Parts: sequence; C-alpha cells; structure tokens
Amino acid sequence: MIVNSVSSGLSAKKMSFKGTESIWTTAKTNIENAANELGYGKSLINQLVYPERELSGFVHVGGIDEPIQVFRTQHNTALGPAKGGIRMMPAVDGETVRGLATDMSVKNSLAGLPLGGGKGGIRFDSAKLSPAQRVDLFRAYTRFMAPIIGPNMDIPAPDMFTNAGDMDIIMDEYSKVVGHNDPGVVTGKSLMNGGSLGRQEATGLGVVHTVEEALLKEGILPNRATAAVQGSGNVGGVAAKYLHEKGVKVLGMSDMYGAIYNKKGLDVPEVLSEIKQKGTLTKYAKAAKISNEDLLKLNVDVLVPAATQGQITEKNAGSILAKIIAEGANGPTTPGADKILQRRGIHVVPDVLANQGGVYVSHLEHIQNRTRDIWPLKTVLDKLAVQMKSRYNEVFTYSIRNKVSMRKAATMLALERIANALKARGRIV
Ligand code: GLU
Repeated sequence: MIVNSVSSGLSAKKMSFKGTESIWTTAKTNIENAANELGYGKSLINQLVYPERELSGFVHVGGIDEPIQVFRTQHNTALGPAKGGIRMMPAVDGETVRGLATDMSVKNSLAGLPLGGGKGGIRFDSAKLSPAQRVDLFRAYTRFMAPIIGPNMDIPAPDMFTNAGDMDIIMDEYSKVVGHNDPGVVTGKSLMNGGSLGRQEATGLGVVHTVEEALLKEGILPNRATAAVQGSGNVGGVAAKYLHEKGVKVLGMSDMYGAIYNKKGLDVPEVLSEIKQKGTLTKYAKAAKISNEDLLKLNVDVLVPAATQGQITEKNAGSILAKIIAEGANGPTTPGADKILQRRGIHVVPDVLANQGGVYVSHLEHIQNRTRDIWPLKTVLDKLAVQMKSRYNEVFTYSIRNKVSMRKAATMLALERIANALKARGRIV
C-alpha cells in the first residue's frame, strides 16, 4: 500500500513544489479558450466559469489557538450533485478551492458522470494536528458544511493531505446530523465504512491507462519507454508503481523533499518501501539526487506531473524533453506553458482526462453505497480500464477532428455536455 504524506506526518509547509499561477486563473482560462472555440456567447461563458455557490467560515478546535478557515465551492450542478475532494494545506484559499471546483465540473462532465463539480478546502497544516484534533476538525468541518452537503447535493472525497480516515469521520458526523447512517455523503472512505475496493489506486492507475493509450498513438512500446514521475503520494506513487509493472522504465521520481534519478531505471517497489519506512525517497542509496526542476527536464518519453498545480510554467516548458505529459495533479501546467508545449508538439493528456480515475471510482463507490452492494476489485478495475481508455480515445478523436489540443478537446467535450444540460433545463440566461 502507498503511504501518502498525510499518514507519514510530513508537513505541507515544507513542500518544495511551488505553484506559480493561481489554479483559478488556469481553470478559467481553459474554459474560456474552449468556449470561444465552441462559439459560445459571453453570458453562457460566464455561466460556465463562475461558481453557483460558495461557503466559507471559521471552525475552532480544542488546543489550537488559531481559527481554522474552511471552504466549499459548488461550481456547477447542471449534471448532478456537486462532487470533489477536500484539500488541507496552509496555502489553501478561496481562489484555490474555486479553481479546483471548476476543474471538477469539467472533469466530471468529461467522465460522463451524472455529477457536477465541487471542491472543499481547509486552510491548515495537517502536520500540526494530533490524531484527536484531526477528528475534531473533520467533525467541525462536517457540522459547518452539513446544510449544503449530502448524497443528493454535494459529495466530498479526499484530496491533497486528506485521507480515507477523514472521510469516515465526515460520514459519521453527517450521519449523526441527519439521524441515520448515510455512507453516500462522502466517497474515498475506508473499506469497512463503505469505501470501494480499487478507490485508493484509482487515480494513479487511471493515469497509467491513459499513458498506455498515448504510447500506442506515439508508436512507443511500453517496455521500450522511459518515464519520470513528480510526486510520490496517492497519485504519483501509484502511477510509478503501475508504470514499472507494465514494463516502463521509471528513471526519476520525486517527493516533497527532492528528486532522485537512475539512468538504468529505479526499482520502484524498493523506492516506495523506502518512502514508507523513512518518510522520504531522498535518502534512497541507489540513485543520484537531483532537483525537482531537473526531474521535469529529464530525457524521458513520459512525464507524469503528479505533485501539485503550477509546475510546468513558461520558464521550464521550453526545456521539457518528454514526448508525452500525463497530468496526474490538478492544474500542473499554466496556460502560458501549455501554449509552448502545444507549439512543440508534446502530447499532453490533460488533468481532467488523465486523473479522472479517482472521481470515476468515487462514483462507483457512491453507486455501491446507494444500492448497498459490494463489488469485487476486478469489477471496479475492469470498469476503470474501460472508462479511461474510452474517454482517452473520445478526446483524441475529437482533437484530431477539430484540430485542437487534447486539453481544448477535453474541455470542449465537457462544456458541450454542461451547456446542453443547462439548455434542456431552460437555464441558459
Ligand atoms: N480529489 C480527487 C480529484 O481531484 C477526487 C475527487 C472525488 O473523488 O470526488 O479528482
């Protein structure tokens, strides 16, 4: 099992990845570019860009002097209840949450799910919480958000620095508020509390399915391919593991503290167990230490940015040597960098496509909760593979047919679905 930074107690504050551009600016620009291509008018574009509802306030946890700011944005619910994770980091603010929620509307629509987009945030460093305070915080978050969350309204899930245990607490507290057991309020729970088999590995494995498709299009055999993965948590760590399993040589990996490189290929399972034991990969002996910036510029076939937003910028986009970039993180590429990558002919699998495996299996979890069914792992993983491969090919075909980038194609497809739903509901102003 992959240990993420939450359970290893590392601090989000020490992160060496620094996002440069606001994820809201990135999300907004991506929608505007795609909507312009579709010929949409200003008022429809505004309806697609601006969120429907936002709630923010402060909660208080015993033993912590500071008030803790909490957020939830429900971006667009034309297709169904809002859905998206909760991020806990000191740098989280309203704009970050809004940008991430916007991405979720696009992602869920592209995934063909009966779900809208939402996101939550907690502006706090998780490393400062004792286990008991952490439970108190998630109970407080749930009571605060109880009027606007629920299985038919808005369904949270984990995101950076939140985990299955936190989701169990949300489920428990929400069940107390409504007076009956309601596992469908949240996804990404532990298995014993209604979580789904396969949810934990869904995002990283889903990224790898899209990499396999992209390699096929580029005419590169997986066992001849090389890769670099930025981030070793629940997305990057899992992606590295499956790339390695499928025969791709992973030459570089990184975590919050730095990056490592071995030109012959890393023993990924060994690196992952090192992270589990020591909390970081930077002490791994069988590789050279490099900077995070150098990791992005490695001469590999596939680059998987799976750390955080704003990593590929106008500054480094010109030096990226990878032929394929599969975005495991949300918003790792700024709009300026995206133009450079496109000009250079790099095959970018955008975040809303590459990392949709997480929310897709969240949806499968939600179905199991609502039908009180439990599906075998194989059922979930088979569905995930079909979903990722078919969505990838849908976007690829659309991008060729309309002569637009994969990102623009993905966003256009997603916006068309939302706009059609708004239209059919008579909600276009
Ligand atoms: N936080 C994940 C994402 O950004 C998953 C969201 C979910 O499962 O609802 O896609």
